[in-house]
Amino acid sequence: MKLVDTHCHLNLIDNKNEIINSFEKENMEFVIEVGINVENSFKTVELANSYENIYCSVGIHPNDSSNLSNKDFDTIKILAQNEKVIAIGEIGLDYYREYTSKKDQFSSFINQIQIAKELNLPLILHIREAYDDAFNILINEGLPDKLGVVHCFSADWKTAKKFLDLGFYIGIDGPITFKNNNTLVEVVKNTPIEYILPETDSPFLTPVPFRGKKNNPTYVKYVIQKIAEIKNMNIEDTSQILVENSRKIFDI
Ligand SMILES: [Zn+2]
Repeated sequence: MKLVDTHCHLNLIDNKNEIINSFEKENMEFVIEVGINVENSFKTVELANSYENIYCSVGIHPNDSSNLSNKDFDTIKILAQNEKVIAIGEIGLDYYREYTSKKDQFSSFINQIQIAKELNLPLILHIREAYDDAFNILINEGLPDKLGVVHCFSADWKTAKKFLDLGFYIGIDGPITFKNNNTLVEVVKNTPIEYILPETDSPFLTPVPFRGKKNNPTYVKYVIQKIAEIKNMNIEDTSQILVENSRKIFDI
């Protein structure tokens, strides 16, 4: 089967070169290295420019949104104009960890939605325990034409449907392979396959059978297998459609 990982953090993995070298034999079409702050976004661009099959996004994660200045947003905007940058992210709201005040998270999110609109790039959204507020901010600010993906979706089907109705894609990660994740299984069951993107968020969220160990982009195959199983589709067709979805949304 063909693999694609639309959300990883290779720069946070110690043996990243070894893993990148395994991509060809694993049939990895491409991966997207996702930025989490200004410093890390410089690294995502550098990594993407070093390998043909690595694309990247630049952005400031909600948990990294304290003490930002206009200069930080200007830097993200400049980096975003590199030709390997295919999205703004990961940006959004995270109420699970209280590193950053809501006020700072709102301001960072809104500033970066504006950048995506100006540069006509899709969004990679990180939303945790903040789906209603994130939805309202997106509606109030106005959506970028290319919309984007709700990365590592972790709410119920009712919430997924609200984002799907706007045209967003739903990112599915390792937790879909965990036992008793019925809420997420229902989301995958009901979401049209054409609107699902496979992700790892590696080195985090390692899927079964490697849960507890460090994750890497090639483990996306376990996420794809599980999506195929839930959808009652064969793995080859599923992986083909997921690659096509990933190319379409990020214009790759
Ligand atoms: Zn991430």
